[in-house]
Amino acid sequence: MSWAELRSAVQSCRACGLCKARKQAVFGVGSETGPWLFVGEGPGADEDEQGDPFVGQAGKLLDAMLAAAGLERGRNAYIANVVKCRPPGNRTPTLEEATACAPFLDRQIDLVSPKIIVALGKTAATRLLGNEAASLGSLRGRVHGYRGRPLVVTYHPAYLLRTLPDKAKAWDDLLFARRTLRAAA
Ligand code: URA
Repeated sequence: MSWAELRSAVQSCRACGLCKARKQAVFGVGSETGPWLFVGEGPGADEDEQGDPFVGQAGKLLDAMLAAAGLERGRNAYIANVVKCRPPGNRTPTLEEATACAPFLDRQIDLVSPKIIVALGKTAATRLLGNEAASLGSLRGRVHGYRGRPLVVTYHPAYLLRTLPDKAKAWDDLLFARRTLRAAA
């Protein structure tokens, strides 16, 4: 599937119940050639309204962290979510919903062909690494792999908004991701 075909398939998808309450599917945004790819959980109310990932408060924090690392969506980073439609009440997507949406995220990853994937939070880490039992803390600070690309795990920006002391750890994770990318280059 090309980008255009994929985008249209996402917009008309009815593979799980999340399509019922969505205002619109939220496809993904940014540099279609990476080299960075960030994976979040799923759209919230702001994203459902505006159609792009991470446009609310968590998105502002993500953009600020990206900027501090010399990254910018659209220039050198692509941002996608595990599920493309907003879970009602912003609940965590179920495993079934994440699985139904998996072919879309996988195709985005293949099309971007990133040099580094960053999983933002537990939902993304579980979806991409398939280890539901592992804590987020135990997955940080290591290089994992997904579809042949290096992957690192960090905290979700919405969690960081509630837990400011962990922002320093998330910054460490970004620097670790940058070192991983440079080592692979
Ligand atoms: N949280 C996410 O995981 N993704 C978004 O797009 C917005 C908030």
